Amino acid sequence: MYQGVNASEGIGIGTVMVAVDPDLSFEPHAVEDVEAEKARYQAALDVFCAKTEAQAEHMKTAVGEAEAEIMAGHVVLAQDPGMTDAIMGAIAGGTCAEQALQDTSTMFENMFLSMDDEMFRLRAADIADIRTGILAELLGVQVVDLSVLPENTIVVVHDLTPSMTATIDKANVAGIVTETGGRTSHSAIIARALEIPAVLSVANSCSALRNGMTAVVDGSKGVVLAEPDEATLAEYAAAAEAFAAEKAALEAFRGKESVTADGIKKIVACNIGSPNDVTNALEHDAEAIGLFRSEFLFMDATELPSEEEQFQAYRKVATALKGAPVIIRTLDVGGDKEIPYLDMEKEENPFMGFRAVRYCLENADQYKVQLRALLRAGAFGDVKIMVPLVTCVEEVRAVKALVEECKAELEAEGLKYDENIEVGVMMETPAASLIADKLAEEADFFSIGTNDLIGYTMCADRGNDHISNLYQVYYPSVLRSIKNIIESGVRAGIMVGMCGEAAADPLLEPLLISFGLEEFSMSAPSILRARKTISQWTKAECDELAEKALACSTAAEVKELLEANAR
Ligand code: PEP
Ligand code: MG
Repeated sequence: MYQGVNASEGIGIGTVMVAVDPDLSFEPHAVEDVEAEKARYQAALDVFCAKTEAQAEHMKTAVGEAEAEIMAGHVVLAQDPGMTDAIMGAIAGGTCAEQALQDTSTMFENMFLSMDDEMFRLRAADIADIRTGILAELLGVQVVDLSVLPENTIVVVHDLTPSMTATIDKANVAGIVTETGGRTSHSAIIARALEIPAVLSVANSCSALRNGMTAVVDGSKGVVLAEPDEATLAEYAAAAEAFAAEKAALEAFRGKESVTADGIKKIVACNIGSPNDVTNALEHDAEAIGLFRSEFLFMDATELPSEEEQFQAYRKVATALKGAPVIIRTLDVGGDKEIPYLDMEKEENPFMGFRAVRYCLENADQYKVQLRALLRAGAFGDVKIMVPLVTCVEEVRAVKALVEECKAELEAEGLKYDENIEVGVMMETPAASLIADKLAEEADFFSIGTNDLIGYTMCADRGNDHISNLYQVYYPSVLRSIKNIIESGVRAGIMVGMCGEAAADPLLEPLLISFGLEEFSMSAPSILRARKTISQWTKAECDELAEKALACSTAAEVKELLEANAR
């Protein structure tokens, strides 16, 4: 059994195909005719770009807009003047095209790899992908072709690159195993978009797994089994069937309202990171956007996005939602989200440092650019502003004062904006939870960020494997905190939602119904399942279960109780 990262849920059973990298070795040779060699490089680059553009076009319908954009980004990167000039310069100095490409791309790759930010490190994988593509053109070698595969193939690759997925024969891929990549890598994003079970970062899987082996990929648990015995295989086959049947049955909830068994209306919303994710959210039947992580707009840029750029992005989402609520979180920079061009100081303890609303309030002029863009987008839909990492009432008041300043400016400039825009609080710190009653007097709505709330409550880093037993929503302390936040909001008459991963947990959902949660916001593939879970419980049943859960002393007892009562 091999353990890896559970990147895309579901169970795949099939025959292993190890997609080894093509042989791109070459003998460097001296260049006699520099102009001819430059033309040879240019021709290879042109063919590569034309093929990549065609793949991106194909991906738009076969995979998704966002993934197609990653692919189209390769063309831009491959034609980057800095890189092309360096390559042409090396050829001019007598280096052959292959070597010039190898040296220059490696230099760029290393530059990206040395950066702390994950988004930039991902660019290194893109550079490697581009190098493989152009080198293959120069050498006339075929790159891994996943476009025609036998039925039920378990694809095992070192790294699932965007170019591989462009042509992947999706219908015949039962599972994906890679040697690299985390949950936020491109491989993971693409596997989830394709809804193919995937386990990433399985060390040495390209050599441990061999062509023709039978393998099971359990993308929910992050486990891969090679040559399982008959009993295990039968067990997994049953589990895979149950998973497929459950997914098919969920279609019955498409287009329906989200209501409890006794008719209490809820909202099942989607979390997004870019305006392009809206298509996927709507395809999965989202009723609203419960969290737009605006920092991705900033992380994908090389300088602060202007008011106009931000306005266009927010307006696109607001318009697509046709009047349904769109909660946009203001810049949540710091902690695990670095933005290099902001040149923020390195800190000993960045999760407790100068970040999110703290940073924004100190940089009010910069923050106002975002607030103005949000107010303006509010004229095109139901946009709501959400403030991250709030710990005290003062912060909310300060943000609201800036919003008022922005309104006055927009009014004077004669620009359209939403004068009644709601300003809500992201409830993700123990401090905010303890003063939920006070914050509810200031805020127009709450949304609980359990990802951070669990971490800060349990003092357990969400990314640290050694303490993952402490990072659980089922701890009585976390449950009490969630209950207090929801009940405080409900008492004050404001909407309370949840946008942390826990909102999609079917075990927890009855408790959230009991406490009075109104909006459940999650990643797109979880939407229909949440709607189903909500429909299976009455408020009275949820209350009975919640009472028992709150009487438990340990997380294990809570989890056992919820599992025993799961529907
Ligand atoms: C959270 O903390 O629960 C949350 C939704 O925000 P993020 O995961 O972006 O910190
Ligand atoms: Mg958070």
